[in-house]
Amino acid sequence: MTTTSPLSPRTAAADAPIPFLDLQPVYRAAQAAIDAALLRVAGSGWFLLGEELKAFERAYAASVGAADCAGVANGLDALALALQALGVEPGDEVIVPSNTYIATWLSVSQCGATPVPVEPDPQTYNLDPVRIAAAITPRTRALLPVHLYGLPADMDAINAVAAAHGLKVLDDCAQAHAAIYKGRAVGSLADLSAWSFYPGKNLGAMGDGGGVTGDDPALMAQLRVLRNYGSKVKYHNEVKGRNSRLDEIQAAVLAAKLPLLQAQTEERRGLAAMLLDGLAGAPLQLPVVPQGLDSAWHLFVVQHDDRDRLQAELARQGIGTLIHYPVPPHRQPAYAELDYGDGDFPISEAMHRRVLSLPLWPGMTTAQVERVIRAVRAAA
Ligand SMILES: *Cc1c(COP(=O)(O)O)cnc(C)c1O
Repeated sequence: MTTTSPLSPRTAAADAPIPFLDLQPVYRAAQAAIDAALLRVAGSGWFLLGEELKAFERAYAASVGAADCAGVANGLDALALALQALGVEPGDEVIVPSNTYIATWLSVSQCGATPVPVEPDPQTYNLDPVRIAAAITPRTRALLPVHLYGLPADMDAINAVAAAHGLKVLDDCAQAHAAIYKGRAVGSLADLSAWSFYPGKNLGAMGDGGGVTGDDPALMAQLRVLRNYGSKVKYHNEVKGRNSRLDEIQAAVLAAKLPLLQAQTEERRGLAAMLLDGLAGAPLQLPVVPQGLDSAWHLFVVQHDDRDRLQAELARQGIGTLIHYPVPPHRQPAYAELDYGDGDFPISEAMHRRVLSLPLWPGMTTAQVERVIRAVRAAA
């Protein structure tokens, strides 16, 4: 298969370093629209809660098949405000994956609730629905699955557990823009769905950004109140809200980039297919995509027993890699209060010792992918 990217016409020297991530090709692909958007907002004199935000919210909701989207300041706020809108209160428990970026857990803590970790399926790295029931207590209020690395979690099974126990479901979609679950877009599979538009995410702003998608008009209205000081009418405050708004510049940039997201996701899928093909049979654990699912390929994560040596060898050859993530949330000093120890979540702990994310971005060339494959095969 050949993947000649329309985004990266440059031909790099055969031994030039390969960065872990290069955001320039995506900017160049949308440059005219992005630059026009920046100037339009600068000249408008209107910077918050205006027409740019409304236009992006409409477009983004439509792109994920949800009735509505509320822009907020970042992905962590999207999660925390969505939990609050769903009624999560101090003293409640929310079930989270034991292996996720710590923001998932922090959003629960920000509501005064307790994150209750559940181990992943060791093949898909996503929350194992079979393990959820054992973690449910009378204080459990919601389930918070994550579509880790861009692969959709098993939402039918997770929603079934939630329905059986009367729980709400919020999914953390920060890594899963344009991912597909059994023919349905991620972002319309739960009570609410939280997004990050952090610059390195698959749809990234030029600064921080986030959003919540959903169908229930009452929940979406509550989110708009919570993000704006708890106020529907200026200077009238119904609840103790926050200041968490997606500003007009970021909304305009995101709207300019959104039309290219689908093609860029297809490009990621082509690059991932090349990596899977080229690394088949190598002594590595490769990502698994179950039937019926289309990953967004935010990250291409392999597992290796001697991960640190593999990473060092690739670095020696100028190939950038990262570890997502080196320390599981239950072993972070920030969560010492929960009193977990080594061995409490063995699947997650083994992953954190073994995972390595290889370079993959829209605009990466076939030659770069081939070099990564050769280097990994030689070093693994
Ligand atoms: C990036 C990320 C977040 C947080 O998003 P920010 O916009 O950085 O606050 C939450 N959850 C996951 C899984 C993420 O990858």
